[in-house]
Amino acid sequence: MYVLKDVLQKYDLQAKKSLGQNFILDGNLLHKIARTALVGLSPSVVLEVGPGPGGLTQALLEEGVPRLVAVEKDRRCVAALAELKADYPQQLQVLNEDALLFNEQTLGPDICVVANLPYNVSTVLLVKWLKQIKRFSRLTLMFQKEVAERLTARENDAAYGRLSVLTGWLADVSIEMILPPAVFTPSPKVTSALVRVTPKAAPLADVSFQTMERVTAAAFGQRRKMLRSSLKSLGEPEALCAAAGVPVTDRAENVPVDGFCKMAAFLEKMEK
Ligand code: SAM
Repeated sequence: MYVLKDVLQKYDLQAKKSLGQNFILDGNLLHKIARTALVGLSPSVVLEVGPGPGGLTQALLEEGVPRLVAVEKDRRCVAALAELKADYPQQLQVLNEDALLFNEQTLGPDICVVANLPYNVSTVLLVKWLKQIKRFSRLTLMFQKEVAERLTARENDAAYGRLSVLTGWLADVSIEMILPPAVFTPSPKVTSALVRVTPKAAPLADVSFQTMERVTAAAFGQRRKMLRSSLKSLGEPEALCAAAGVPVTDRAENVPVDGFCKMAAFLEKMEK
């Protein structure tokens, strides 16, 4: 029987800041997170990034996940997780890998991702997953609250930016839980939020990730400037704004996700 607190002691799992280690040890909370991640789904495979000492891993397995692939960079945690693997030999696979380099394609389709993310690489991982959004049935991810607010922001919100547009183009996003620093060990300085990312049946525009990145980078790279000026690097800012139905005197923060989609579609057509 895997007892989280014993495992922490036995393997001397002092949290490492460099790996973004803030563990959740409260069993009730871990089960609540696992249930939030799984509700309404029957995933054939769950990918957990950063299982750490395995609290969420254990909760997911106890909630009945049939196959759980856990990718962890810290070798110390991988050694501890071998004990959990002994309880769930068929269901659990632990890989000592860097999630930034992990190839999700190896898991097949309809992957359900669940992660209390290391905050130092959380947005890099999110963008990596957005680039292959069709592989996933749902992603349930812990971010710092400020990042969660950027993901859910809409035009004219202070937090609205590139990440809001890239996410809103491909997925529906909701904040499912707000967690105070005290629920983590050690406690981070920031409040956290559990975010559900549900891929849209089809993206709002059928354009490449690269084009959408170019448009949002140009617009938000100079976010205080009017589109007339910030979009110059793409050529024809007037035509791009007309395609999006927004005035050239607007700024990036005023343009809805749909407007950026129309700009990206127009840009691709122009460059064909
Ligand atoms: N899931 C555990 C929990 O909820 O208590 C730990 C979460 S902790 C915030 C983040 C975990 O991600 C740590 O175990 C850390 O070692 C791991 N990690 C950090 N960078 C990683 C990377 N690039 N690839 C895989 N795991 C990573």
